[in-house]
Amino acid sequence: MTSTYPAYLIFIGPPGAGKGTQAAMLEKELGLKQVSSGDLFRENLKNQTELGLLAKSYIDRGELVPDGVTISMVQDRMQRPDCARGAILDGFPRTLEQASALDGMLAGQGSRIALVPVLTVDDDALIARLTGRRVCRNCGATYHVVFNPPRVESVCDACGGELYQRSDDSLETVRNRLYVYYKQTSPLIGYYYAKDLTTFIDGSQAIEVVRQALLDAIQTVLHGK
Ligand SMILES: [Zn+2]
Repeated sequence: MTSTYPAYLIFIGPPGAGKGTQAAMLEKELGLKQVSSGDLFRENLKNQTELGLLAKSYIDRGELVPDGVTISMVQDRMQRPDCARGAILDGFPRTLEQASALDGMLAGQGSRIALVPVLTVDDDALIARLTGRRVCRNCGATYHVVFNPPRVESVCDACGGELYQRSDDSLETVRNRLYVYYKQTSPLIGYYYAKDLTTFIDGSQAIEVVRQALLDAIQTVLHGK
């Protein structure tokens, strides 16, 4: 066995499953830094780092950023002091090649992935969550037709403005986001499942129940409790 810390988790879950909320809670509770590939790209581009400029040269030509560049960004990020205890990776790896490169990189440091929590939620429930969102045209306040409805249908409680559905939240877009999610993550889930690293958690439960299930699974792996 390699040592428990630094502990690296890969957090997988569909849009609308509450992954961001849970990752933030885990970060606070366990001291593992949340590393999102989206944030990492934005940060490197904004700060015009060497890797950011390299990535930009591909993006500007309309090409995909090569895995090597993305992996270097992640590697850089994981060497910073706030990742000393470990990290929760979100949005990376995206491909089997990246997953394999990540394994190689960690092995080089005498480390490995500790656990891959996968949040699962029925498609119907995800679609209900994501398509129910409404935004005020006037003040930007957000509502949900089921979970957080305004007092008067289609009218903002705060300012009386008209509520509308953003195109991101339309049924067609949501279905497409789910399709992309399954297409992208299925091979990765298989890869980690074969390594006995996945733990599947029912993300349709209450936030607090999901949080506890995640913590229990992680503590078991890290401390053998
Ligand atoms: Zn409003």
